[in-house]
Amino acid sequence: TAKRHGRNQHQRFRPALDVAGDHQLGLVNALRNALATGTQLELHYQSQHRIDSGELVGFEALLRWRHPELGMVSPADFIPLAERHGLMVSLGRWVIEQAVGQLASWRRAGMPAVPVWVNISALQLIQGDLEAQLAACLSEFKVPPRLLGLELTESVLLDERAGDIYPRLSALQERGHQIAIDDFGTGYSSLSYLKRLPVDKLKLDRAFVRSLPEDQADAAIVAAVLAMAEGLGLEVVAEGVEEKPQLEYLASHGCPLVQGFMFSRPMSAADVEAAWLAPPSAPPASPTLEEAVQ
Ligand code: C2E
Ligand code: MG
Ligand code: MG
Ligand code: MG
Repeated sequence: TAKRHGRNQHQRFRPALDVAGDHQLGLVNALRNALATGTQLELHYQSQHRIDSGELVGFEALLRWRHPELGMVSPADFIPLAERHGLMVSLGRWVIEQAVGQLASWRRAGMPAVPVWVNISALQLIQGDLEAQLAACLSEFKVPPRLLGLELTESVLLDERAGDIYPRLSALQERGHQIAIDDFGTGYSSLSYLKRLPVDKLKLDRAFVRSLPEDQADAAIVAAVLAMAEGLGLEVVAEGVEEKPQLEYLASHGCPLVQGFMFSRPMSAADVEAAWLAPPSAPPASPTLEEAVQ
């Protein structure tokens, strides 16, 4: 099902990761090298839209590694490797710098002023000086913090090694960052936790979206999460929306925001500009719901 669910643009090499340490070490060294030169790494961007109007509301930055022999390697494979081998903090710093630099250049070029969301690994909160890094980078590029959203998974939020996460998130929010809980529903956070945490958005994991609306359990969970989020004042972004029936179910249950292949795949910065930086005479307006579902 990996193929069916869109991993087809990546070279899977998990078997290689499972074999001898030699192989792994080769990959780790290759990744360390990629990080040092920066030439094989890229950030791609996937658009996020308001479900009723199709309006563009943001982009998620997704890391890509173009390995010279393996081709495009999935972040689902190399992020864990980076975490295990002490490369995650540097990799995370590269992502932040790249995203903020891109934001600055898009602002100069007149791109829509929507936030770019970056994924933050637990290790960046534990070992890295994330707050200082963000502040330094944003001030260097003169980008306001409201344009850099932070996506953290439930496991990150629950990782005790990050200390009391509550004041840290509050401080980041006070500075202007928006914070989203990524892959919501797949972790173990309790509802009391959700009530307490300073976050702005929930990203409903695509595991719940995939089989909408046929799967009754998923349909019930999605409806309940949407109702709960609304009551808590949290905006939901549904991940992995690929097909019209999924979109319709989400729209009819009050989901405000969507992201998925139906709207766009993750794209290079150049492709984003080609799509969104059109001359005013011919705006490539975001698809409206009606257009998107055709
Ligand atoms: P995520 O943060 O949940 O990102 C969403 C993933 O879903 C992306 O996979 C995206 O390409 C994919 N996706 C989006 N729409 C659809 C759809 O309609 N159908 C399907 N089948 N998939 C869709 P990707 O880019 O392979 O990234 C996988 C994971 O790797 C991310 O999941 C995130 O956890 C991690 N990741 C990616 N970039 C970074 C990064 O810069 N830092 C960290 N720490 N993790 C990252
Ligand atoms: Mg994410
Ligand atoms: Mg996600
Ligand atoms: Mg996910």
